[in-house]
Amino acid sequence: MSQKLETKAIRTQMERSQYMEHSTPLHLTSSFVFEDAEEMRAAFAEEKERNIYSRFTNPNTSELVEKVADMEGAEDGVSFATGMGAVFGTFAALLDSGDHIVSARAVFGSTHTLFTKFLPKWNIETTYFDVEAIETIEDLIQPNTKIIYAESPTNPGVAILDLAFLGQVAKKHNLILVIDNCFATPYLQQPIKFGADIVIHSATKLIDGQGRVLGGVTVGRKDLIREIYLFARNTGSALSPFNAWVLSKSMETLAVRVDRHCQTALTIATFLESHPKVNWVKYPFLKSHPQYALAKKQMSQGGTIIAFEVKGGLTAGQRFFDSIKLLSLSSNLGDSRTIVTHPASTTHSKLIEADRLAVGITDGMVRLSIGLEHYEDIQNDLTQALDKI
Ligand SMILES: *Cc1c(COP(=O)(O)O)cnc(C)c1O
Repeated sequence: MSQKLETKAIRTQMERSQYMEHSTPLHLTSSFVFEDAEEMRAAFAEEKERNIYSRFTNPNTSELVEKVADMEGAEDGVSFATGMGAVFGTFAALLDSGDHIVSARAVFGSTHTLFTKFLPKWNIETTYFDVEAIETIEDLIQPNTKIIYAESPTNPGVAILDLAFLGQVAKKHNLILVIDNCFATPYLQQPIKFGADIVIHSATKLIDGQGRVLGGVTVGRKDLIREIYLFARNTGSALSPFNAWVLSKSMETLAVRVDRHCQTALTIATFLESHPKVNWVKYPFLKSHPQYALAKKQMSQGGTIIAFEVKGGLTAGQRFFDSIKLLSLSSNLGDSRTIVTHPASTTHSKLIEADRLAVGITDGMVRLSIGLEHYEDIQNDLTQALDKI
């Protein structure tokens, strides 16, 4: 009998031990033992799937990966110590010196640093496309292009990229489409359905959802995952069993948490849109979002991130931040606690101003990561802070 995704995220479980525990125990062990020489030989020859050493696999990391891969509709997956471990591991495993990436300009700050500072060391260059000019990406493809890379919704401007279009272009030119699906979660959007070959998650965000641990997962096509797995297993950015155990338990509540996040986010976005001190609000499931129809096509709900601009520029923005009482001023996102971020002075401060503006980050822009508090308390704090500007 086939199971719904929410059920699988709860019921997928590694083999029970002789103690018949109900919840998966924490397997804090660096290595695993063998009965005899033959069993050990077969394990190293990969004739039988089996845990050898926790840098390679561990029951806790395998359980997490299986849950994320199931929800994404992926063949296989690999876990990493962090989301950036997953991003870097994917590029390092799939690209050779001289290869080329076509990427959306609006990507996570550290991914941007990877493109501009580190990948060029290995002669890997990146060409960017603007989200508004996505139809021009075929013009950017070179004979050495290997990967198309994008996030949707984007950070922090919550623009939506047409995943089916990216999938078609990748297929036509025989390229690997890699999507960072962190903002949508595997519950709201499954890029593989639209043609993605690889999907990356920073599990640190909504998969944990409670701001406790770091983690990353890459899932996708079996042949590509094999390469990424070999890179991961030999280079050491392994996810700790403890973090994997936390994250696998978190997967059990992902659907109910994200349902509430999205419900509150839509309420707060609607409230902000009608507030006289707010210039504009962007949230994928607001009818005023320029790509509302596309968001509805690819996502089942609008997600947890809202971008908006307060009237009065930098000074008003700073006064707004200084007046926040309940909500957290932090750079993280996807937490049970609502977080207010000022991208221009924090997460995206490394970008030059022209690059910031190109991805829609103005001085007065605020990013809200809506948490699980009662929506009235979130709204009250925003109201009193907006009143002060
Ligand atoms: C946070 C984040 C990452 C990096 O994840 P870490 O777990 O912090 O390393 C990558 N992509 C996106 C979209 C993110 O929000």
